[in-house]
Amino acid sequence: MLAAVTRSPGEMVVEDVSGPGRARAGHVIVRPEAVGICGSDFHLFSGDLGALSGRRDYYPRVQGHEVSAIIEDPGDSAGQDSAGQDSAVTQGDRVAIWPLIPCGHCYPCRQDRPNVCVSFRLLGMHLDGGLQERLEIPAGLVFKAGDLDPDSTCFVEPASVAVHALKRARLQPGEQVVVFGAGPIGLATLVAAVHQGARVLSVDPVASRRDLAKRLGAEAVTWIPQAGQLTELTRDWTDGEGPPLVVETSGEAGVLPQAMDTVSQAGRVVVVGMSSGTAPVRTGAFPEKEIDVIGSSCATAKDFRDAISLVAANRAANGTAMAALFSHHFPLARAAEAIEFAMSRPPDAVKIVVTVN
Ligand SMILES: [Zn+2]
Ligand SMILES: [Zn+2]
Repeated sequence: MLAAVTRSPGEMVVEDVSGPGRARAGHVIVRPEAVGICGSDFHLFSGDLGALSGRRDYYPRVQGHEVSAIIEDPGDSAGQDSAGQDSAVTQGDRVAIWPLIPCGHCYPCRQDRPNVCVSFRLLGMHLDGGLQERLEIPAGLVFKAGDLDPDSTCFVEPASVAVHALKRARLQPGEQVVVFGAGPIGLATLVAAVHQGARVLSVDPVASRRDLAKRLGAEAVTWIPQAGQLTELTRDWTDGEGPPLVVETSGEAGVLPQAMDTVSQAGRVVVVGMSSGTAPVRTGAFPEKEIDVIGSSCATAKDFRDAISLVAANRAANGTAMAALFSHHFPLARAAEAIEFAMSRPPDAVKIVVTVN
């Protein structure tokens, strides 16, 4: 069977590898169909490991953690998924894959926050992921996607990141939220916030992404290169108070001081975008405004299940704006090209999908 193997930074080779046999106890074998390419894939592909959580042996690795797949061998898995729901999958079921394997006993795990487990293993990063024709994974990671199409199903993972960020944010219906970045995570955050009854101002330098944000339900969109101007604009948008919630998804370190300046007194800033950059902040703003600056990483199994419902309610197949998220498709044989294309950040690209099988 074919697999796209990242042998070392910048070197991905599609080659014949020996696949799994029958599913071992507690495992299932799936056939990936659609795999989304994401920013964390760029970090691993390019060798920028400082931006990734955890430091382990990364190469060689089959990447891909945003996976839609079909169950080929359900093994002995008539059990429960990691969110504790009955998940008896059968051959032919379409599933989304929660890509995270926590250790189960470290401090975050004991706090029921396995998404930041100190030694978690992430599919496609610490373990081989979806850019291959067959894959054996623990049965608890597969979540039935019902009648979702493959593109929507591989978008469940980024959507779960947005669901988790808004839980960390304690979002209330009717709140006004500024979302920095209108890439896939920013747009997923926008969709999830609107779905919960929030009003969203989306900030991004790329006009086509701002247009897409509008179509996906943003009340307002903007790009203002100078920090002070944005604070002024958001004050106007919120009748002078400033937004109670700012979510940073762009991965630009310099957004944090801007977000802290923009957010209202007693507000929350949630940082989702991964970056190895640094930015100076005025520490006095913390007590002065009594703001919460909150980090958010990946998603729990419960968030993942909620993300399936969110994507189902906004699915691409209904001809909604969601379909426009899946801007480019590449076959598995051209997986390296897909990542390089995504990394070149063409303005018309949103979610790049590799189709497998
Ligand atoms: Zn991702
Ligand atoms: Zn742990």
